[in-house]
Amino acid sequence: MKKHNFYAGPSILPQYTIDNTIEGIRNFANSGLSVLEISHRSKEFIACMNDTISLVKELLEVPAGYQVIFLGGGASLQFAMVPMNLMNKKSAYLNTGEWANKALKEAKTFGEVVEVASSKEKNYNYIPKNYVVPSDADYFHITTNNTIFGTQLKKDPDVSLPLVADMSSDIFSRPVDISKYAIIYAGAQKNLGPAGVTVIIVKEDVLGKVSRPIPTMLDYRTHIKSESMFNTPPVFAVFAAQQTLKWLKELGGVKAIQKINLEKAKMLYDEIDRNKLFVPTIKDQEDRSVMNICFVMADEYKELEAPFADFAKSKGMTGIAGHRSVGGFRASTYNALPVESVKALVDTMREFESMN
Ligand SMILES: *Cc1c(COP(=O)(O)O)cnc(C)c1O
Repeated sequence: MKKHNFYAGPSILPQYTIDNTIEGIRNFANSGLSVLEISHRSKEFIACMNDTISLVKELLEVPAGYQVIFLGGGASLQFAMVPMNLMNKKSAYLNTGEWANKALKEAKTFGEVVEVASSKEKNYNYIPKNYVVPSDADYFHITTNNTIFGTQLKKDPDVSLPLVADMSSDIFSRPVDISKYAIIYAGAQKNLGPAGVTVIIVKEDVLGKVSRPIPTMLDYRTHIKSESMFNTPPVFAVFAAQQTLKWLKELGGVKAIQKINLEKAKMLYDEIDRNKLFVPTIKDQEDRSVMNICFVMADEYKELEAPFADFAKSKGMTGIAGHRSVGGFRASTYNALPVESVKALVDTMREFESMN
């Protein structure tokens, strides 16, 4: 039976990415070698890296003055690299979820961290608003999409200081005004490719302003200068990411995929709101994530949680268990998830309702 892949990460990739990656493993760019065994200094891979960087710039309309780099270490390494490269004395963080909280904690290693607002006391079920960002902070850090809790910050905040964003779970899902940001980073394994590579978009003139010595490998300037080839980059993961970006471009880019993403999210939220068995964990429409849709059983149907999980599994649904800190269910509806999979989940919820 066809599986509907709702995993939160690593997560579904376009069939185009899977097919081209298989071909690249057999014969990469007609080199007669596999992408798994070719030198990162070969002309074929250098072309792949350059094209992947160009595709990121093109799809996100990255303005002049910004650089795109690919690094290992996951988004979690960026939790440390951002303060190491940007923070002299003080930074400001918006605490909207477990990842935001981890980023904030890591920054404390390097100086004073102001938590401008937090939704932790409500298990992160909303995005705080009307907070004040200290104007003497070196930067303000946000997490645009809270993968675990299913909230999303849909408007770019207007702040006068450098804005840094973890966009791991919503990059390439919608247009973003890059010019508002100093640094954007995202682990690949949600919306871009397999695990192993992180894409970073950095405004060059925010670098070089801290007094601490920065280890070579952890200095963004090292990787800008060497065009992500300072050491061996994650060759395979970059190649696979390139395939997804080509797919996205073919489809019409981020505006086109946003339209489809909004349609998928609306379909599922509408069903959660309508179906008597389920309730959404995020009440405020404005804060609801378009990428990770969380819901639980209504109080009077709590005992149906395990039976629904089994029923959904029997219908081919995979990866809909909620994160352990929220419980219930989470359906991730990333770029590559077809509308048909959302329809199948909605049908499953309806059928289960009629059985109960
Ligand atoms: C998955 C995720 C991370 C962690 O990414 P790693 O690549 O595993 O370090 C960080 N932030 C957000 C928002 C995520 O969704």
